[in-house]
Amino acid sequence: MHSSTIRIAILLSLVLLLSPIVFAQQDSLETTQAADTIAPAAVDSAVAQNDSVIVINGQQVYPLTAEREAKLIAYARLGNIWRFVSFFLSLGILAIFLFTGLSAKIRDWAAVAKKKYFIVLLYLAIFGVIYYLIDLPFDIYRNFIVESKYGFMNQTFWGWWGEDVLSLAISILIGSIPVYFIYKVIEKYKRWWLWFSIGAIPFAVLMIVLVPIFISPLYNDFVPLENQELKNELLTLADQAGIEGSDVFQVNASKQSSKINAYVTGLFNTKRIVIYDTMIDNFTDNEIRFVMGHEMGHYVMNHMWIGLSVAVILIALMLWLTNLFIHRIIKRFAGRFRFDRLSDIASLPLLMAVLTILSFVSDPISNGLSRYEEHQSDIFGMDVSKVSGDTAARAFDKLAALNLSDPDPNPIIEFWFYSHPALKKRMAFVRSYHPQERNLK
Ligand SMILES: [Zn+2]
Repeated sequence: MHSSTIRIAILLSLVLLLSPIVFAQQDSLETTQAADTIAPAAVDSAVAQNDSVIVINGQQVYPLTAEREAKLIAYARLGNIWRFVSFFLSLGILAIFLFTGLSAKIRDWAAVAKKKYFIVLLYLAIFGVIYYLIDLPFDIYRNFIVESKYGFMNQTFWGWWGEDVLSLAISILIGSIPVYFIYKVIEKYKRWWLWFSIGAIPFAVLMIVLVPIFISPLYNDFVPLENQELKNELLTLADQAGIEGSDVFQVNASKQSSKINAYVTGLFNTKRIVIYDTMIDNFTDNEIRFVMGHEMGHYVMNHMWIGLSVAVILIALMLWLTNLFIHRIIKRFAGRFRFDRLSDIASLPLLMAVLTILSFVSDPISNGLSRYEEHQSDIFGMDVSKVSGDTAARAFDKLAALNLSDPDPNPIIEFWFYSHPALKKRMAFVRSYHPQERNLK
């Protein structure tokens, strides 16, 4: 799903936390946010000796040319700046809702709905649309103009915008459930932060189960792998990894973007590995075997459940912290905000602002865990696919070149923002990794 969905901030509610889990494509192969620039992309020339040259629109994208490398650095720099732009932008927009009394006004308008749930839904719809409109120029710049400029965008403006608006509508509808629930428990319980976090578990599980079958197909087509030879190979691989091969899908991700990825999502019956058509087009079979081995690692090692558990604990901690001081903020600014207690739906932008800050601060925790899991999956991928270190390294090298990801980011940026280890580290690891009894391909 589109990253703009996350930014739309409504689901942000519950928050910024649930949304990456539920809506982002879980456990994707590499961080989709571009990285930084300090060290000029040190792509190993050793991997490039393989004959695979990739040309897109008449331009060589792999192995990395000097021109492509300059592009990579510029794109990575912009990505890093944008991490902070979007953070302060969300806070700024939320502040507008609070300090102009707009949020209180929306609460008054929404009161016509009479029934509690519909008041929440109406509040969220008005709030969501206004938020979206203020954010729209930035959204268009980052997600359409920049993506087009760097050659990733495969949609017309209207095609892109239609999906953006669809994401907004879905976010409002789905977001209304946890928002309704959190105000319900705030009203009822002193320890609302605890009850909300516990109640969020079945909701999050349900969302992860349903998103792959009801939401994702609204944007793309998911079909069993079309390439029979590859399919058979992956079935064997899945068998060795101890999972059902029928859970491997390919998606026409090229409809939106030329970026390459693969991911694991779903739970129970909807648990699945998804591979982008863009990867099938540009990776050799052995490179795909390694990538799929990596994804199977997430699958077999239950990283979805681990991620969910950590997220719930983080949500509980953040809400507990929020509860310690948010009432004082409300008291202090009650005159300007035009609400005087947290249980007032008009406080939603304040709750979101506090959680935006807390989740920014706690990013190193969730990303640190994620990087650890990614490393475990790289090991699993090497073991199960039995490809050579050079083959696996070339897969990472291609990812960097085709997605314009900085393979060697600033360590602080990596520590804070990267859900995956830097590609350069992953390349060095797979080259040095020698499991016993390897039948190298
Ligand atoms: Zn992964």
